[in-house]
Amino acid sequence: MLGNKLRDAIMAARSKNRELCKNCYNPSGIRRRGYCGRCYDLVKRIEAAKKWNRLRPTTLERLPNIYDPDSKQFFLNTFSNDEFEIFRNEYVRQAQSRLKQLSLRGERRQGKIPVNPFDIERQLVGILRLLRPKEKYTRDARFIELHFDQEQRRLLYDLLAEIEEAIPWTGFDSRKAFDLIRQYRAKLSKEIVAER
Ligand SMILES: [Zn+2]
Repeated sequence: MLGNKLRDAIMAARSKNRELCKNCYNPSGIRRRGYCGRCYDLVKRIEAAKKWNRLRPTTLERLPNIYDPDSKQFFLNTFSNDEFEIFRNEYVRQAQSRLKQLSLRGERRQGKIPVNPFDIERQLVGILRLLRPKEKYTRDARFIELHFDQEQRRLLYDLLAEIEEAIPWTGFDSRKAFDLIRQYRAKLSKEIVAER
């Protein structure tokens, strides 16, 4: 297909002389170690969180600003060791999940993995939610499957991804970590009651 050849030529010209981020294939703003600024920031967050040590407060770098400027004190005073680990694991999990999301988006845009109708549905729902949080998206993935073939889906995905790129990441969601800690505490108190 001429469209494919043209696309390949454009992609080749675009990526020539341009280093792509090794996670998300973003061609702009390579910062360090082969990552774009956005991915590098996530990589640094994960590395920092893995080094957090409660006994050495200077290691508590890149803590989410939950009760800034007293985050460090909060972490040291409020959590038990187990709870601290739950928080750390959730922080790392969210950063890894965001990295993975960026990587999958880049792979789909580059045509390295196929774009399925649900991918486009997810994009449309995401954009619609930003505009009207409670609005229901009425066309489903089946509609997309019927009307767009694989290459058309990739192009559509690419166009929508341009818009998605402009949506900032909301950052670490501390509520999820606190929910996990609450569940842990509830389980613990049940066990204590059972032992009595
Ligand atoms: Zn990147």
